[in-house]
Amino acid sequence: MSTSGPNPPGKPQVRSLNCPGCGAALTLRSLSQAVTVVCDHCHSILDAQDPRLTILQKFTAAVDEDPPLIPLGTRGKIRGTDYEAVGFQRRTIHVDGIPYSWHEYVLFNPYKGFRYLTEYNGHWNDTSILRSLPTVNNDVSPATVSYLGETYKHFQTAKAGTSFVLGEFPWQVRVGESSDVSDYVSPPRVISSERTGKEVTWSMGEYISGRDIWKAFGLQGEPPERIGVYENQPSPLSAETTAIWVAFGGFMVVLFVMMILFWSFARSEQVVEGNYANRMVHKISRRGKGFSVLAGDTEYQTEFIIFAAPTFLASYLVEGMAPLHDFEYSPWLTANLTLEQFPDSYGTDPTWDNVFMESPTLGYVDATHQSVRSHVERTVWTFYWALADGLPSENRQLLLNKDWNYWKEAILHDLERVHHDIRKCVSRIDIMRMGHAMARPKVGAIFSAERRNLAKAHGRILFANSDLSGFSIFEEAQYRGVNAADRVLSQVARAQGPTH
Ligand SMILES: Cc1cc2nc3c(=O)[nH]c(=O)nc-3n(C[C@H](O)[C@H](O)[C@H](O)COP(=O)(O)OP(=O)(O)OC[C@H]3O[C@@H](n4cnc5c(N)ncnc54)[C@H](O)[C@@H]3O)c2cc1C
Repeated sequence: MSTSGPNPPGKPQVRSLNCPGCGAALTLRSLSQAVTVVCDHCHSILDAQDPRLTILQKFTAAVDEDPPLIPLGTRGKIRGTDYEAVGFQRRTIHVDGIPYSWHEYVLFNPYKGFRYLTEYNGHWNDTSILRSLPTVNNDVSPATVSYLGETYKHFQTAKAGTSFVLGEFPWQVRVGESSDVSDYVSPPRVISSERTGKEVTWSMGEYISGRDIWKAFGLQGEPPERIGVYENQPSPLSAETTAIWVAFGGFMVVLFVMMILFWSFARSEQVVEGNYANRMVHKISRRGKGFSVLAGDTEYQTEFIIFAAPTFLASYLVEGMAPLHDFEYSPWLTANLTLEQFPDSYGTDPTWDNVFMESPTLGYVDATHQSVRSHVERTVWTFYWALADGLPSENRQLLLNKDWNYWKEAILHDLERVHHDIRKCVSRIDIMRMGHAMARPKVGAIFSAERRNLAKAHGRILFANSDLSGFSIFEEAQYRGVNAADRVLSQVARAQGPTH
């Protein structure tokens, strides 16, 4: 925040009125500038430009009341100018059916007009309406806008609805109205366009810490804790990037010199022999009748390979093997929720597998549901979500793009259908993203020649993952593994000839 700009008169100017709906006293702080004002008693939205204060809309907020963190009427200094919080609204977007809400505060100064503060999960932006239009470039991916010599990259577009309002607004606000909002970012700034019908409003937000706002408005207590990383949040490391790269470069040089020394002095000999688990194989190539298997920095020689990893990986690992086309996998997300106490449940007792009706998820497993302990202090539920609707590649991208905070919200929102107080009970959520979690039997998979050839292969490389059965269950995994081992043993027995 800077300290330039004129200051308004020390005393706030207000006009007192009465709500025509319920008679309650109303305060008009932005005077003739307000277009609508909301009665916080009966939730009537009133025409502030009309001396009779005509009721434009009434909305129900009894169960949806959302008190502003900056109480209306509070004054604070932003960039050297005093502003008064005069309005507050909650806006909501739905992504994959899940609502995400943020808050917008309308600030007013009689000389400077309106300015806005937005808050989402403890991330704040100081926002003003742009006075000139930015240049949009939709011919690049992602699309960009340019403004005052700076380029902003498209981050997201969503339909934002207004779900709660309080105080005064310099426009015709309505609960339930929606507009298309697009964000373009260049941290610490974000440029947003907001389209309602044919009208487009452009604004620019600058990331600001909750602490600065608390200080500016003299608010009690602490600002809400930041959750996750926000779209235009500047990286705390950006200033140190050069130093990090220099240190990294130095480290790589030392590592390279050490490697050369090791290679020069190392003897060429077999180092290990036996059964070595937990090593990632990164290359399998033919060597005479057998194979060379590279795992970590070790090369193994084998006569047979039982390839029990997911079959689609084979073309990445087995030298010369063509990519496979008939294997399709759904991405999954699992999460362990640590609960400090049991949440309330709507008419259900704990069970092993808890699947909610009409939920896109598979619910959760409570492994202690049969415990005879009379008191459980802490427990862990495992939540399952198969992203099975739509294209696997798009779902994998979604799984990758969205951060912990997004998935945390989605999970808790789903659980709230049955456990309304779940947020109070959860102390930790560990999320695992699995890009190729389970094979899915797409049409034709069972009769696919590719799948059947790999399943019955009789050479020295045998395939044994459960996905060869078209879908993933433990029984198929066990069957395929035993079957492949039997085929290897019979080949070995045949090669050795009769033993008696
Ligand atoms: C979230 C989830 C829940 C499930 N729930 C159930 C259930 O309730 N009931 C049921 O029957 N089935 C369930 N399944 C399916 C079941 O887990 C699988 O069918 C089964 O594990 C498949 O066994 P597999 O041995 O064929 O393959 P995997 O279990 O996939 O084993 C393959 C192994 O290969 C390893 N590997 C991969 N690449 C390499 C490499 N380059 N080098 C070395 N090792 C490598 C992997 O680390 C893995 O250990 C579930 C699966 C998921 C993902």
